[in-house]
Formats: sequence, structure tokens, C-alpha cells
Amino acid sequence: MKRFFADLHIHIGRTKTNKAVKITGSRNLTLTNILDIAKNRKGLQIVGVIDCHSPEVIEEIEDLLNEGRLETLQDGGLLFEGETTLLMGSELEIYDLSCQGPLHVLCFLPTLETMKSFSEWLATQLKNIHLSSQRIYATGRELQRQVKVRDGLFIPAHVFTPFKSLYGKGVKRTLREVFDPKWIDAIELGLSSDTFMADELEELHHYPFVTNSDAHSLGKIAREYQKLSLNHASFNELKLALEKKHDRKITANFGLDPLLGKYHQTTCAKCFTLRTSDVTKCPNCGSSKVTKGVFERIRELANATEKPKRPPYIHQVPLEFIPGLGPKTMDKLLANFGTEMTIIHDTSFEDLTKIIPEKTSAFIIKARTGGLKLEAGGGGKYGRVKK
Ligand SMILES: [Zn+2]
Ligand SMILES: [Zn+2]
Repeated sequence: MKRFFADLHIHIGRTKTNKAVKITGSRNLTLTNILDIAKNRKGLQIVGVIDCHSPEVIEEIEDLLNEGRLETLQDGGLLFEGETTLLMGSELEIYDLSCQGPLHVLCFLPTLETMKSFSEWLATQLKNIHLSSQRIYATGRELQRQVKVRDGLFIPAHVFTPFKSLYGKGVKRTLREVFDPKWIDAIELGLSSDTFMADELEELHHYPFVTNSDAHSLGKIAREYQKLSLNHASFNELKLALEKKHDRKITANFGLDPLLGKYHQTTCAKCFTLRTSDVTKCPNCGSSKVTKGVFERIRELANATEKPKRPPYIHQVPLEFIPGLGPKTMDKLLANFGTEMTIIHDTSFEDLTKIIPEKTSAFIIKARTGGLKLEAGGGGKYGRVKK
């Protein structure tokens, strides 16, 4: 088995004709740029692009196939320039009668044909098939069925975030309120939680956890990802890893320290002062509106008496959070060491200091072992590394 790095939640900002897909996504976040950056700058071997249902994105995939830059893999997925595998997915919003509020899910389809037929079905279920993360009229269970009849993978997205997520908004207590538990292939943790926190919920114990960037810009790709042990990078190999079959597996999750996530702590919805939701008014501005943090939501739902064995969850500080590491320094590092994965995981302190200041190098090395001091985020603001 070999080592592969995978980020399975990347949006598309614009199509090749500059049509918006994810409205809040950046303009240069096109399919071709994602593949290019993943391969040449990030050092990812697998990317899940989750706006592939959009008809112009499908056209772009067909163009890349015709140009020979993408090739169809026998067991699912498409290979970009012989190095990075594209998995085709779609993020959707469910808000059926059994939901307390809207929630997001990721659906992955094995082939271009199944993605096309899924997209055709979707077009009858939502207002605008060209856009990202659209609300569908179908129920959660019907969506699961549509994915499963096409041999796809179904993964609830960023499950604890206070807006548009399974536990943040969708259900009172259990995923059974909206989903058939046997048709869930994995759970995406989201930036403000980690394995240890999520295992407070007993019903999650038998699902694998995935950690992805939810990137809305090229720079944010791979701020979370997983290391996989596979024979090769394909849809079916990922499926086997999620099922822990034939020695395929997730060997580690790399995620932001939950403290750095935007929604870790409960905060005042108006002035962002940290507070708890059992106090009626914000001590700073007097507002009674709160954005409930992931930490507090998990505490409400916690019911597990023991924790299952999991791949290690490595708290990682993406390079953009490293103090003193601006775009110029980043360019220098990339020019010397190749990809971000190499800089984050493999480059020695000695080699780093040949290119950048000792202080910045020390931050990068400390980030590998969880040695940085952090300040918590909340209410939509990221946490930060203390200088
Ligand atoms: Zn989402
Ligand atoms: Zn997303």
C-alpha cells in the first residue's frame, strides 16, 4: 500500500466561461485551476470537487478528457495529468419536514456517467442546477437512495457547525431523525471539531471520520485533509478505505486545531464577545443573540461512555496561519521545496532556515507536533496563533 493525501471538499467558484457556481467562491477557483494547484502546489493526490453536478463543470470535465489531461480510471474517478485523482461530488442542502433546520451533505459519484444522471435527477429537484450547495426538494432519505442506486458515497458535511449542518441545525438529537444510518459512508467533522470531540456521540462510533478544507479559494485547499493507505488513488480505493477493507484505510486525519475554527466557542452574534448560551444577555453589548459554538453543542449531545479506536487526529496549523509567513515567503518556500505537503510534513528545520528566518521556521516545526499556543475562534472569526 502507498501513502496518499486527500482533500474531499473543494468548491468551484467559476466555470470556464466565468459563470458563478459557488457565489462566494473566488473567481480563479475553476476546476482546471483546482486540479493544477492540487497537483503542483499543494501536493494532494486525491481531490473531491463537490460542485461537479453543475452542467458547465461537466462540460469542462469533458474538455479535459478530450484534451487528454484527464483520463477515466477503471474503478472510478478521473486521473489528472497522471498524478492527481479527481473525485466528482456534489454538496447539497436538505431541509425536509423531518429537519429542524437546513443541513449540508456531500454526495460522490463514481463515474462521469453516474454524475451526469445524478445531475439530471437533481435538475428536477432544485431551482438552479448551475449553482453550489442548493436546497433540494427531496427528503434526506430520498437523496440517500438516489446516491446509493448509482453506487455513490453519502457523507454529511461539517456536521457540527452552527449553520447548515446535521447536528448544528438539522436534528434535535440523532441523525436517525433525517437519515437512514446504513446509507451513510462517513462523517465530515468540520473545522471547529476533531475526532476526540465527535466521539462524544455514541452514534458516530461506527462511521469513519473525514477532514476536509471546504475551500472557497485556491489558497484554502488542503487546510484539512487525510492521509490514506491505498493501492492507488481511485473512487473504489477510497470506498474500501472508508469500509476498512483489504488493508485500505485512513491512516491519519489532519485538521485545524478546533480552537482555530470559526465556530468553536459560543459567541455573541452581534459583537463576537465569547459567552455561554445559558447567560441571557451579552456582558459586552447586551444582545440576547448567540452563535452557539461547536464545543457547547457537542457537550449537549454527549452520551458516549467510552471512545472507539481511531486513526490519529493531527492538529495542524495551515501555513497561512503561521505568523510571519506572507505570500512572498510562501513563494520562496514553494520554489525551494515543491509543495505545501512537503513543507508541512517533510522539510527539516535546517533546510527551512536556509530560505526563511529562524523564527518562522520554528513555528512550522512546532506546528507539526502541536507545540503552538493558540487563541480560540468563534462566531465566524478564526482563531489565531499567538506570536
Ligand atoms: Zn456546506
Ligand atoms: Zn462546502
